[in-house]
Amino acid sequence: MMKMELRKTFQFEAAHRLPQVPPGHKCARLHGHSFSVEVVVEGPVDPVLGWVMDYADIKAAFRPLYDQLDHNYLNEIPGLENPTSEHVARWIWDRLKPSLPLLTQVVIAETCNSKCAYRGG
Ligand SMILES: [Zn+2]
Repeated sequence: MMKMELRKTFQFEAAHRLPQVPPGHKCARLHGHSFSVEVVVEGPVDPVLGWVMDYADIKAAFRPLYDQLDHNYLNEIPGLENPTSEHVARWIWDRLKPSLPLLTQVVIAETCNSKCAYRGG
């Protein structure tokens, strides 16, 4: 049995501010990002279909979360009162795992060169 990993990337635009940073920190000010979300699943490759799962099913599972996050003020979303990348990754994981049992990792990037990966636990 062949096991493989699939990675699918989504993007959403959102505003946030970080309420817990020290006074004067730039992240305390209201600002926005084009967040990138990488959803990683791993599982056996179906011998007939030749895939782990349909990428369209990953997209469908993420859709309700995208609708809550995109073009919103993250701080107003329950569970994201302190919307760091770490908390956004955990928030997505908790809501995605039930509908995507093969999920192994959620990677959040606020910028091109800063990423946060959550693997559960
Ligand atoms: Zn930020």
